[in-house]
Amino acid sequence: MANPSLLILAGDGIGPEVMAEVKKIISWYGDKRGLAFDVSEDLVGGAAYDVHGVPLADATMAKAQEVDAVLLGAVGGPKYDVLDFSVKPERGLLRLRKEMDLYANLRPAQCFDALADFSSLKKDVVAGLDIMIVRELTSGVYFGTPRGITTQPDGSRVGINTQVYTTEEIRRVARSAFELARRRNNKVCSMEKANVMESGILWREEVQWVHDNEYPDVELSHMYADNGAMQLVRRPKQFDVIVTDNLFGDVLSDCAAMLTGSLGMLPSASLGAPMANGRPKAMYEPVHGSAPDIAGQGKANPIACILSFAMALRYSFDQGDEATRLEKAIETVLADGVRTADLMGPEGGQPVSTTEMGDKILAA
Ligand code: ATP
Ligand code: MG
Repeated sequence: MANPSLLILAGDGIGPEVMAEVKKIISWYGDKRGLAFDVSEDLVGGAAYDVHGVPLADATMAKAQEVDAVLLGAVGGPKYDVLDFSVKPERGLLRLRKEMDLYANLRPAQCFDALADFSSLKKDVVAGLDIMIVRELTSGVYFGTPRGITTQPDGSRVGINTQVYTTEEIRRVARSAFELARRRNNKVCSMEKANVMESGILWREEVQWVHDNEYPDVELSHMYADNGAMQLVRRPKQFDVIVTDNLFGDVLSDCAAMLTGSLGMLPSASLGAPMANGRPKAMYEPVHGSAPDIAGQGKANPIACILSFAMALRYSFDQGDEATRLEKAIETVLADGVRTADLMGPEGGQPVSTTEMGDKILAA
């Protein structure tokens, strides 16, 4: 059988720096674990604009559609701020998401014991935390029409956005969440505002429908999103998988992210419909951006990008044990006190470089 295929789009700023560490790890899997990938690399964002005049070339887009998974670094930087909106680096990312139709955005909030002091919450509230927020990414109030700002006859202005969800849009993201739950602890909490929103009522009904008809073995609960926000900071360990719409998911996933500390630690996955091989279309990327303020200085924390590859191992390549191996190595290194600059507490110490962090993880 052919090796699983991976397209690496390292992008701009610290993207290539953190991706270099992931590439070492990918080679290690081929050499030491007999797990070889067909890796191809291409340009995205400003790096693609510099060569092709567009932030994502058609040929790159076509490649992304064919591979088993895309691994992305980061895009953007001050150099490109002056560009026209249509060719801004971020448009490359948006094109990938849109054309691959990646409707389920997975953001884990996982607390490494060694970093529990980093949380804005008490240590016992977050220690051992491991939850996953599934955010609907391609519909809802960010896309619904009518939208716009209109001026009334009396000169006052009205800003309009519309939340629209269809049955199928809700069902497909619910399926992603239930599939995920079966690989984890078989528990989903769906969040909306069915008490005040029609789309919330439909959301609740359709998630329940998918549960009753397709995933009756998974435990399902429903919660109003405002209560969900409160529960996330009060007692986050009560959750396992949370599924919610685009807007609530945007807010709740940022909130959950900060339960665990630095931006340099947070991976994500964006999944779409199952392909012919049964695996979902997928793109994995760190939550952080290109961090122009530290780019080129060897200071970036590569862990978010490495954890994104661990998610790829688990969700695209059926290598859950290998993903756990990688996460354990990161845990070990952190427990040994190895820290990039972003993970330095007030007590200070000597930070390691991006490369040193990658090497330590590999050694572990
Ligand atoms: P974007 O708009 O692309 O999301 P942003 O401006 O929101 O980007 P980032 O580029 O993620 O933000 O950077 C925000 C801050 O976090 C910066 O100070 C940056 O140096 C820091 N940061 C981001 N990622 C990392 C990382 N991997 N390691 C260390 N620091 C990081
Ligand atoms: Mg940002």
